[in-house]
Amino acid sequence: MTEADEHTTAVLVVGGGITGLSTALFLTRLGVRPLLVERHPSTAILPQARAFNPRSLEIYRPLGLEEEIRAHESILADFPEMIGAETLAGEERFRFDLLAHVRPPAGVSPVDWAMIDQDELERIVRAAAEGGGADVRFGTELVSLDADGGDEGVRAVVRDLESGTELRVRADYVVAADGHRAGIRERLDIGVDQPGPLSHAVYFVFDADLTDSLRGRRFLLAYLDEPVIGTVLVPLREAGRWMLGVPYYPELGEGPGDFSERRCAELARLAVGVADLDLTLVPPVPGWPQKVSHSTGGGWVAHRFSSGRVLFAGDAAHVVPPSGSYGANTGIADAHNLAWKLAAVIRGQAGPALLDTYEQERRPVARVTLDQAMRLLRVRYEGSADELAAMDELSMILGYRYDSAAISAETPAPDGPVEDPRVPSGRPGLRAPHVWLERDGAQLSTIDLCAGAFTLLTGPDGGDWRAVAGAAAASLGVEVDVHRAGVDLGDPEERFLGAFGIGPAGASLVRPDGFVAWRAEAGPERPESESAFGRALARILSRDATG
Ligand SMILES: Cc1cc2nc3c(=O)[nH]c(=O)nc-3n(C[C@H](O)[C@H](O)[C@H](O)COP(=O)(O)OP(=O)(O)OC[C@H]3O[C@@H](n4cnc5c(N)ncnc54)[C@H](O)[C@@H]3O)c2cc1C
Repeated sequence: MTEADEHTTAVLVVGGGITGLSTALFLTRLGVRPLLVERHPSTAILPQARAFNPRSLEIYRPLGLEEEIRAHESILADFPEMIGAETLAGEERFRFDLLAHVRPPAGVSPVDWAMIDQDELERIVRAAAEGGGADVRFGTELVSLDADGGDEGVRAVVRDLESGTELRVRADYVVAADGHRAGIRERLDIGVDQPGPLSHAVYFVFDADLTDSLRGRRFLLAYLDEPVIGTVLVPLREAGRWMLGVPYYPELGEGPGDFSERRCAELARLAVGVADLDLTLVPPVPGWPQKVSHSTGGGWVAHRFSSGRVLFAGDAAHVVPPSGSYGANTGIADAHNLAWKLAAVIRGQAGPALLDTYEQERRPVARVTLDQAMRLLRVRYEGSADELAAMDELSMILGYRYDSAAISAETPAPDGPVEDPRVPSGRPGLRAPHVWLERDGAQLSTIDLCAGAFTLLTGPDGGDWRAVAGAAAASLGVEVDVHRAGVDLGDPEERFLGAFGIGPAGASLVRPDGFVAWRAEAGPERPESESAFGRALARILSRDATG
């Protein structure tokens, strides 16, 4: 290779799963065109996540993707149910609606869950990222990474797996979204917190007519006791196609190599409970040579979410058991938190220290999410329906709180890591509450209004804030959109002031990722408020107040 072969990019994203693809998409919408490499020839090889929570939809919706996501919701969306039985043909031991306790009430979010398979969502996000100018290269692997380049950035080598051609890459930043095996994090010698790996399973897809065993039933997921307790049977989109996950135990000397296709066919017959079931194992994607995959489940959080100019996101930074549908959704939220910070630093609008707030904000969220997922796992297996109902998952999804230099903290400090989004306080550090406003007679959520740019929302008597925000934004070279609720925008339900916790002349500054960064309960008094607002904005952007 010669120097001429070197490709220069602001951001190299490693991994084309939902976290990497979302990072690429969010960056393109902020004017940064990353290079993304993914070793697989195509998007996800199995559906994996099938339930995307309202926060993920709130993130994709302002980008115009909700309609397409809804159009690709699974035909099983009307049956978000989990069942338990010894075998599929046997008696059902339990059945419950996975979303019964986690659907947001109407006033809490403009969106509901989306029951879309992860591979379908990845296709949509990939197309949108490519449409926005991201250079997305599947079938391309990261071969080496030199993260010690200092101001020179990161040097990497990537290889096209079909042609074998290598390309040298110099990137200002690398987002390591390379999944739970976390090759980059491991290379950089960054360890993880407990509990660690908890389970191992083999997965395979098979075609079979299970009409008799189903007896007219439909479900999203079946937990079966045969051939091993914890076996999972999942109906796929194609009629008559199934995925089976069977736990194995390394401590008993078992390993993925023990699961031949023939043995897997036998395991599927045991799980269904029909000894002579006619079935065929199929590759998870056409042409894929391997029909049996394996994975390690459990829970861990990386000790650090970055190393110099390399930032870890998604499963590369944290893994949670699939008990609360948190895995993929947490990766999307990481990508969303990171993308605006990267874009602001790359565009010179923020100081590099803004990137330190990524770990300060996302690592604690990963930790409480993991704790919640572990509790949920225990309650599902050993607890009661009442205990399950008492777990406040909605607060975990929509009410987690950030505490970092990119948030203007208020005193007294609030209690606990989450707040109930049903009774929002509007405090800095929390997701800006959803309130229906009105523009030109059309309904508009504050969630859609405060997306992709700094937004200052003021009360009806807060007209003076426009000049204050304009002066501060101009001196720092950033854009701040200003809207006056009750004047520029209708507030038909009269919820705005209460939800944001400000008076009629107050203002709330929302970051490009939809989190409240600062607020003033009352109106501006110049010049004090002007400089207070300017100082707050400069601090949020890790700039000194003079810019
Ligand atoms: C069976 C199952 C069910 C699940 N159910 C749910 C659920 O209901 N809800 C939920 O939210 N989550 C669920 N999850 C978890 C969810 O699928 C993961 O959290 C999610 O896939 C993580 O996305 P990611 O992009 O961070 O990592 P991944 O999806 O693992 O993507 C990482 C990518 O990086 C690529 N890569 C790695 N190294 C390199 C390299 N050197 N060069 C190039 N590319 C590389 C890999 O090929 C991979 O495609 C489930 C997972 C499984 C296995």
